[in-house]
Amino acid sequence: MPMHDGFYYGTYRCPVCGHRDAAEVSSEDMNRVVECSYCYTALEVTPRSNDSGRFAVQVAEAPVRG
Ligand SMILES: [Zn+2]
Repeated sequence: MPMHDGFYYGTYRCPVCGHRDAAEVSSEDMNRVVECSYCYTALEVTPRSNDSGRFAVQVAEAPVRG
């Protein structure tokens, strides 16, 4: 898995609209909530150790942080 300075960098696919985008996830914050840049749905992205460069993604129940 690519990792730079404590961040995983990879891509995810929005399950709502199918839009693909990239995200960075801190290695200390493995369940990062991001907002889809296309439909603005809050998405929870999780690095997958067995699939380098891609994040598992699901619709987040919690509001977007930060
Ligand atoms: Zn979307």
